[in-house]
Amino acid sequence: MDTQAVTAEIQRLIETGRDFHHRGWSLATSSNYSVVTGRDPLRLLVTCSGFDKGRLTPEQFVIVGEDGKSVRDSGRKPSAEVLLHLALARGGAAGSVLHTHSIWGTLLSEACAAHGYLEISGYEMLKALAGIATHEVTVRVEIFPNTQDMPDFACRVEKRLCDPGRPPLGCAFLIAGHGLYAWGKDLTEARRHIEALEFLFEVAARKSRLFQQAI
Ligand SMILES: [Zn+2]
Repeated sequence: MDTQAVTAEIQRLIETGRDFHHRGWSLATSSNYSVVTGRDPLRLLVTCSGFDKGRLTPEQFVIVGEDGKSVRDSGRKPSAEVLLHLALARGGAAGSVLHTHSIWGTLLSEACAAHGYLEISGYEMLKALAGIATHEVTVRVEIFPNTQDMPDFACRVEKRLCDPGRPPLGCAFLIAGHGLYAWGKDLTEARRHIEALEFLFEVAARKSRLFQQAI
């Protein structure tokens, strides 16, 4: 990706942050976003650590390499979760990864943590997820336990992505009591996945309350 394309992606990520903050999915400096800018070698444009996602500026992004460190001596510190983004860019072939901390995602990730997954069936909105063409489907979103040990977690996610003995992870997973990771072939697709899943989480949680059903 040339400099002009990187600048355009930064602007789109700034808009994404503003939008997600406004919707209550990226509050209090939480969340992180990335776009792959090169494959050989791997280069990832990612949000820096600790900034308000509703007011991002171009100086609050950094390009990192395979090791998660800035490729230039910029002094900019990438998000603490950059290793997860790199694992998804490698093992999940993601072109963009978005991470949110919504209320419904956090509640559901906790409510379903003991199962290790959340299943959603029968909704038209499921067709917003890549590869799904009908509402007559069940999508399973896996739930990982929360941790502050990012190198270990990234390693587990990468192994899970490459595990031939289990069904594919799809385009998203939850972290218990924490939030959602979703990815896509590019930023447009990753955004669509976040929007659809956040909608579906709210529907699932409200439905269980409305009809007094287990999720
Ligand atoms: Zn997080």
